[in-house]
Amino acid sequence: MKSRPTRPRTGGSTADQVTVRRHNLSVVLSHLRDHGPRSRARLAEETGLNKATVSSLVAELVDRGLVGEGETERATVGRPGQIIRLDGEHVVAVGAEVNVGYLSVLVLNLRGQVVARQRVALDTAALEPALVLARLGRLLDSALVGVAARPVGVAIAVPGLVEVDTGVVRAAPNLGWTDVPVVAEITRLLGEPPYPVLLDNEANLAALAEVEAQGLDRGGDLVLITGTAGVGGGIVVGGRLLRGADGFAGEVGHMRVRADGPPCGCGRTGCWEAAVGLNALLAAAPEDGPPQDLERRLAEIGDRAAAGDARVLAAIADVDRWLTVGAGILVNVFNPHLLVLGGYFAALRPWLAGSLRDELRGHAFARDIGGTRVVFSSLGFTGPVRGGASQILDRVFRDPVLVEPVDKPLAQEEIV
Ligand SMILES: [Zn+2]
Repeated sequence: MKSRPTRPRTGGSTADQVTVRRHNLSVVLSHLRDHGPRSRARLAEETGLNKATVSSLVAELVDRGLVGEGETERATVGRPGQIIRLDGEHVVAVGAEVNVGYLSVLVLNLRGQVVARQRVALDTAALEPALVLARLGRLLDSALVGVAARPVGVAIAVPGLVEVDTGVVRAAPNLGWTDVPVVAEITRLLGEPPYPVLLDNEANLAALAEVEAQGLDRGGDLVLITGTAGVGGGIVVGGRLLRGADGFAGEVGHMRVRADGPPCGCGRTGCWEAAVGLNALLAAAPEDGPPQDLERRLAEIGDRAAAGDARVLAAIADVDRWLTVGAGILVNVFNPHLLVLGGYFAALRPWLAGSLRDELRGHAFARDIGGTRVVFSSLGFTGPVRGGASQILDRVFRDPVLVEPVDKPLAQEEIV
């Protein structure tokens, strides 16, 4: 959606003018994100703001460390102009994730480039939540140690029922967590930082990362099915995350698809995730020796499947069969533009890609599965942390004033 500038009406109050200016800062900053570096003159032309206003807005964005001046652009007429671009050095956003078997942190600069990334294998389900969060606090510290830029926020992804407003994880059965105040604890561990710490469901954040990665139209519909130990769902309708009445929408892993199925971590039987979660596959390829990083284990399973290991191939065929059952239900309910398979399902792409779309035809009511495209995520296990960091950046693009001006002037004096 293109943001339009707002002009103050004559006689507007000072408060109105402050609001208008904040909005216009967002228009200029977002325009640079969506359309790339350009001169002040071009910014003025394309946003409909006058040149003097654009110069003043750019000066403020420079002061806040959000944009910088680059090389000159050869103008077709008149003298060359200074190019304004998003700053890649002064602010960063942080995404973090707690999941079964690992912790992960990813740091993005304002241009959306990865500045730092860390993931550690950790038996999170066997440890007390306080110990897991203490470890996450240390991982955040170590990820930010080498980053000279200022963090503008941290978003934490957890699989389970998450209260976004209070920052509390109400239930994460695969971690064994109930009523864990994640935001309060991480805020304390980070020493009450000046930036916000937010919490969201991991599949919700991963779905938002897919909207960007798959280039979905801003008003489009997408369903992400992501496989880790559990199975998460993130549902985007009309470009917005579907959250539901209490914020717990998208728990597709607990659709009861298999009455005679195995017990689920949630205490019921027959849940979809008990049939297609990662544990069902890992059980077919038991680990020898100490715990390994998830991606290495999946690579090992891939090697065994490629070598024709009958047990592994049978486990994959079982995942394929039940994956299609659940995916068929979601396609019938949501008729999304895109059905994205993420997490470990993407690692099974060589075995799933050929059959899944054809098999789905047998489950979908609409002809040609209602035009839904079935695609695999290319984000590996970084979807939740990318989505989290991007949400933090979005806050800044919506309201650049959230970022305090830097102490020293960053750019040389503006050349008039
Ligand atoms: Zn369940």
